[in-house]
Amino acid sequence: MSRFFSNKYSTLVPYTPGEQPKDLKYIKLNTNESPFPPSKKVLDAVKCEAGSLQLYSDPECSALHEKIAELCGVAKGEVLSTNGSDEILNFAFMAFCDKERPIVFPDITYGFYPVFAEINGIPYEKIPLKDDFSIDANDYIGINKNIVIANPNAPTGMYMGLDDIERIVKSNPNNVVIIDEAYIDFGGESAIPLTKKYDNLIVTRTFSKSYSMAGARLGFGVANESLIRDMNTIKYSTNPYNVNRMSQGAGIGAIIDNVYYMNNCATIIKNRQYTVDALTSLGFEVLPSKANFVFARCHKIGGEELYLELKSRGILVRHFTQERIKNFNRITIGTMEQMEALIKEIENILEGR
Ligand code: PMP
Repeated sequence: MSRFFSNKYSTLVPYTPGEQPKDLKYIKLNTNESPFPPSKKVLDAVKCEAGSLQLYSDPECSALHEKIAELCGVAKGEVLSTNGSDEILNFAFMAFCDKERPIVFPDITYGFYPVFAEINGIPYEKIPLKDDFSIDANDYIGINKNIVIANPNAPTGMYMGLDDIERIVKSNPNNVVIIDEAYIDFGGESAIPLTKKYDNLIVTRTFSKSYSMAGARLGFGVANESLIRDMNTIKYSTNPYNVNRMSQGAGIGAIIDNVYYMNNCATIIKNRQYTVDALTSLGFEVLPSKANFVFARCHKIGGEELYLELKSRGILVRHFTQERIKNFNRITIGTMEQMEALIKEIENILEGR
């Protein structure tokens, strides 16, 4: 830390992104990216927009918001796109939380939530998952604090039904509920239609996973117009051109090619089932997942040891050191070839144990 670093950040522990190693060509199953390339319309749009990079991007993201609104069945004014969904999450924390309006989230969830809280000086509370690692909706009923829940949750992959989401939103009418749907396209049902009914609900989504665009940094939020206006106040006070020209074009291209991406999601769901079955038959406990990853542990080998063994064999998965989940690994679902290679290596590692 330099002697110039602001005191207000002196205890800040930043988010640690998954490894992006440059040394070897790994089978990368550690950051929940899609194994499939972007579609042709995305590539064409990026090429086309690259020719106009001397010009700022549209700060209103008008054409993109029209397409997102159409895709989600909402009005254009109910959409705000951002530089990855991380940015809309941060905007929501900045816009709606403060010392008087703290936020709660599960103890095991997306590691960025406490960081957004810390950097913005927002008090927060972690609510433990149940013993089976599911979220107990009852813990959030009438809690009278702002709430953020990833659905499906990460890194567990476990999904909460819309009935429970609605109960939570309805019972906290004076607080904002953020439902982070980064992984919703892999088998869950979106809460976006509920934004019509509840003025305290924000649903966030991303193009990083199901739309094969993690490198483009494009996410968005859907909520009623007044919440969107508040988040726009934050956006125009920090970075009005937050979504670059190429990513705006890419997002439009991706939505036009929606069928391609939804077919890819169906393939991931199929490959996930293969992976769950194969891991289970090797003695793993695999949490029920509706995401493009599974969270699994095996009594024959520790979580960190398996992670290191796989890494030394050219396969990257994600290991977390938090006590309660240290024996698990989060494994992104890739192509069938990648999953077969993973299972083969795990068989080799477990041989004789
Ligand atoms: N929410 C969850 C639960 C995530 O796992 C991620 C990915 N790290 C994000 C949000 C943010 O993704 P992005 O900024 O790429 O949209």
